[in-house]
Amino acid sequence: MATDTSFVLRNGAVLPLEGHKRSHDPGSVLVLDGKIAAVGGLEEVDAHPATGSVPVIDLTGHVVIPGLVNCHLHSGLLRGTAESLALWDWLNTHVDPAHRAMTPAIAEAASWMAYTEGLRGGTTSVLDMWRFMEGSARAAERIGIRATLAPYTADKFSYFETLETNRRLLETHRIAADGRVRAWVGLEHLFYCSDQMFRDAAKLAEEFDTGIHTHSSETIWEVEECLRQFRRRPIEEFHNRGILGERTVVAHGVWLDDREVKILAETRTSVTHCPCSNMKLSSGPARIGYYRDQGVCVALGSDGEKENNSLDMLEEMKFASLLQKVSTLDPTSGDPWDVLDMATLSGARALGLDDVSGSLEVGKDADIVTVDLRQLHFIPRLSGEDFNVPAHLVFSASASDVADVWVKGRQLVEAGEVISVDVADIAANAQAAAEELFERRRSLSPIS
Ligand SMILES: [Zn+2]
Repeated sequence: MATDTSFVLRNGAVLPLEGHKRSHDPGSVLVLDGKIAAVGGLEEVDAHPATGSVPVIDLTGHVVIPGLVNCHLHSGLLRGTAESLALWDWLNTHVDPAHRAMTPAIAEAASWMAYTEGLRGGTTSVLDMWRFMEGSARAAERIGIRATLAPYTADKFSYFETLETNRRLLETHRIAADGRVRAWVGLEHLFYCSDQMFRDAAKLAEEFDTGIHTHSSETIWEVEECLRQFRRRPIEEFHNRGILGERTVVAHGVWLDDREVKILAETRTSVTHCPCSNMKLSSGPARIGYYRDQGVCVALGSDGEKENNSLDMLEEMKFASLLQKVSTLDPTSGDPWDVLDMATLSGARALGLDDVSGSLEVGKDADIVTVDLRQLHFIPRLSGEDFNVPAHLVFSASASDVADVWVKGRQLVEAGEVISVDVADIAANAQAAAEELFERRRSLSPIS
């Protein structure tokens, strides 16, 4: 038995988040060879025959949760630049020129930074839409995080990925790093891609038996423009082009009418809610409670460093809850347990990984996060009928409170420090890559 992936996490508050509002407080999680072997109260896990033969990690004062799933991310290096612009202005004048100036080395440095930053804050699985993703795969493989890679493909502009480069990524990385790294088909915004490209993307996903990730219905303008150009709302147009289904994840979905929500539910297409991005870019509030009530799987995502500007999924949960409360004027919306579900099991379900990850259940991989609750901003910490840990996680915790992270039972963060890679090196490389990117962008000729 490999002892480094076999251990017992003892005496923390355990939230299995397996679809029930349930906790073991105090409780333990037994991990054997990287898989969860027991979850429960102290006595129950202590009684397991293997518990006595593995190292004990005392988690007094901590909460133990499944790893967080960031279901819409763009690796990137534009943080803090081009603020306070409308979405389409910002894409045209800042983001797209950065795409034109991008090189494989710059893109790879961005993924190293994004995945390490996410991991430090308790993210164990990302769905990343980015460029030159062989480098992203290398980063994820070395860092130890789970990554689903969906290249930015488009055929109306020459500087994005193409279905041909996406195919090459699928040939090498459809399933890599023992299943931890996977490639999907990515599609940029509706107006960046032709009708035929959507249909070819659906065929490509089918050929490689893999998923599709794209954006939709982020702004009212986008919906109106879609109606003008195609006489259908965006989700109807997606349906018409054949890309919806159980393994399709649509980011944003802010402005969906009831019919579109019904189509998503019927086709079992998932939505990734990105509350920070939707607020920061003034996109609007998605009707998340309604989508979930209608049976749509809703995951949570940070979006990129340029539209958030943080990849902190604990903070994202707080915004998800608050945005529901303020947009519905219903204080019972945005319940902490529901938001925790979106950030864990629903995220894993959207990625088709809920059989191996997303909750603390026997037989699943040990993708586990602990948060240290022994700080002023978690007082009072109460048990029994006053149990307040779910609210602490959603409303009081941030990435810096994450203590430990394991993926497949391998410890990647210990006592708040990433231990799988050299963070100082990654930071220096990302800084240098960003400076090179800005220099290259300055020297671009205008698009004719
Ligand atoms: Zn996005």
